[in-house]
Amino acid sequence: RPQAGRMREFHQFGVECFGAASPAADAEIISLAKQILCEIGIKNIALYINSIGCSECRKEYSKALKEYFRANIDSLCDTCKDRLERNPMRILDCKSPADKEIAKGAPKILDYLCEDCSAHFELVKKYLTANNVEFTVNPAIVRGLDYYTRTVFEFVSNEIGAQGTVCGGGRYDGLIEEMGGKPTAACGFGLGIERLLLLMDAQQTAFPERKKCDIFIGSMGENENLKASQLATDLRNEGLAAQFDTVGRSLKAQMKYADKIGSLYTMVIGTNELEIGKAVLKNMTDGTTEEIELDGFTDKFQSVVIKQAMSGFESLGLEGIDINDILGGGINGNN
Ligand SMILES: [Zn+2]
Ligand SMILES: [Zn+2]
Repeated sequence: RPQAGRMREFHQFGVECFGAASPAADAEIISLAKQILCEIGIKNIALYINSIGCSECRKEYSKALKEYFRANIDSLCDTCKDRLERNPMRILDCKSPADKEIAKGAPKILDYLCEDCSAHFELVKKYLTANNVEFTVNPAIVRGLDYYTRTVFEFVSNEIGAQGTVCGGGRYDGLIEEMGGKPTAACGFGLGIERLLLLMDAQQTAFPERKKCDIFIGSMGENENLKASQLATDLRNEGLAAQFDTVGRSLKAQMKYADKIGSLYTMVIGTNELEIGKAVLKNMTDGTTEEIELDGFTDKFQSVVIKQAMSGFESLGLEGIDINDILGGGINGNN
């Protein structure tokens, strides 16, 4: 029977990094997972790391493990009795409490790492430490899949039942070749959506707010609507969120809609605006308006936003705040 939040069918999202063999890549992947969890607002989550070495180190280790578990074979569960000769490392991953107890006394892979694997693991730890990523080396982390090499890790919470792994991953340098490709270094992680939601629920984490619309461009008439669509496309190409009317609302209804979606700015394109090539941009937060040229609109719009944001900083003494946080989208195509 699956544990809480551990469904037979589940969703996950993950990150895969191919072609990077350096320990810095392992640390980057782990840092990224941590940052995602932090930005969502997850607290009290432990990071466990381990190295399970390469096929070279595992030869000796496998021998030692078999020897150890053979001495305890009568106490092992049926699955693990079967695993003993085939793949004794999987016994370390068994969830049966009795087997877990036996596994505690088993030889540790870290004592069997070859020189290269050992050096790799030391560097992963060094990178994590240098970047303030707290971790605990836990020899019980072996991951359930055979294709892992060297680094393995899990982010674990004790707030969602006995098996609190929310995110797990590591390095799997042998996988691509095993599937018929060229030998390729690889590392990554998977993050279980259902388990993440369970944890967010347990911690009463607020869902992130949807990104607001930067500008709603109202329009009246076919040519005006066409212009609004072009302006919106240009803005989006620069990473801004822009909307215009596609359902034939009246101008009044369009403005009501812009207000409802919390658009930060609005502008209306009518026959006159098209003719003179200018329109009035309205800041929906403070109600101020400013005339703006439609030619090269995206750049001019961004200048106005920055200028208004800066004047806000001066009066509030908040210089140095990232402008991207205010604008929502990126400036000059960032993000
Ligand atoms: Zn090795
Ligand atoms: Zn077992």
